[in-house]
Amino acid sequence: MNGVPRNEAPPALEIQAERFLADLEAVAAIGRLPDAAGGGRERRPFSSAHWAAREFLMDGARRAGLEVQIDPAGNVSARLPGPTADAPTLLLGSHLDTVPHGGPYDGALGVLAGLEVLRVLAESGIPRRCGVEVVDFTDEEGRFGDLFGSRALSGQLTREQAVAFLERAGAYPEDLARARERIPGGLSPEAVLQARRPPESLAGYLELHIEQGPRLERAGVSIGIVTAIFGRRSWLATFRGRRDHAGTTPMEVRSDALVAAAELIRELPQWVSEAVPQGVATCGNIQVDPGVYNVVPGRAVVWIEARAATLEELDRLEQGIRERAAKAAGAVGGQWALRSTARSEPTPMDPAVRALLHRAAARRGVPCLDLPSGAGHDAQMLARITPTGMLFVPSVEGRSHCPQEFTRPEDRVIGAQVLLDAVVEWVVEPRAA
Ligand SMILES: [Zn+2]
Repeated sequence: MNGVPRNEAPPALEIQAERFLADLEAVAAIGRLPDAAGGGRERRPFSSAHWAAREFLMDGARRAGLEVQIDPAGNVSARLPGPTADAPTLLLGSHLDTVPHGGPYDGALGVLAGLEVLRVLAESGIPRRCGVEVVDFTDEEGRFGDLFGSRALSGQLTREQAVAFLERAGAYPEDLARARERIPGGLSPEAVLQARRPPESLAGYLELHIEQGPRLERAGVSIGIVTAIFGRRSWLATFRGRRDHAGTTPMEVRSDALVAAAELIRELPQWVSEAVPQGVATCGNIQVDPGVYNVVPGRAVVWIEARAATLEELDRLEQGIRERAAKAAGAVGGQWALRSTARSEPTPMDPAVRALLHRAAARRGVPCLDLPSGAGHDAQMLARITPTGMLFVPSVEGRSHCPQEFTRPEDRVIGAQVLLDAVVEWVVEPRAA
């Protein structure tokens, strides 16, 4: 089977809301930190809390009669096989690891919704045209290597990246030893590269995730359908003025590099919100030379990053930053330079998968909003090799990566239900007319 099938009248299956919500709370209790210690939950990759959450997933999957496996990159998955050994597999997924002092549903929502979808499908006994598998990807949050598990599974991990990952993990010998015991191949770089799945073995990838921003809540809508995952560019903007005595140099003859930097920093937010309203740009740090009271700053370096959903928007952001830097430097009679430090391209979601998600939401009468994802996700790795789509549910007050992160139970349930409906349309053969 190739491409995304269309089935106007798939059978309606229902998720078991109580069972699914109970799973979410059980995992949210793993790695919980006392408020006195900063609160939230912490399941850093390969920590004992992380493996406890993974054991919970594997237990639930085994009880549902699913095939459980750990691949050489440490990705944990549970699978409902297809009709034949060579039938492709529709992957569902997200991650059970968290940032330090993270929230209850970032990642866990998508993994446990995937488990629930597989359970309902298994219980229904409905014949499928492909396998369905839920994956808990290793180290989505990048403790040792950004999007490590999905990068490995999608064949985009290099040997150098695998070595660097192991070096960073080596700083936590207990965690690394625990992982090596459990992961087939013992996490050697050669073994990790074997986690790659050939694209032809996959039917596609779907991920349910919390929005981690305020747009859905502000629109009063429970389902977001992701258009693209933001690309990102970052730069060091260096302003050069003239270093002078802070007491003897009159104001009107100064060339103050910090004043130029400040002008750029001050102008950028307003300009971005008017010129590229779907994009963002941030000045995250500044270094001033020589950085003392009594010398007019001769040099200031600003750390800038910009993110947007399309190349065209990223180009416009870059162009605007250049123009504003030039103007700010010119105003003090100084010089400027912009040096690129990193860039990643935007990742569009598959149009046919987006249409499938829209149909699934429409059949439930759930209003939805198309929106880009400002955060990175495992879906951006999978999208390079297989038709991929993402669903968002609202984050209360847009909070995320913090103990206050929350998504209302009714929104968690709607998200899982629309995911199930989309999977059913994808994997169940249309009835003959
Ligand atoms: Zn996440």
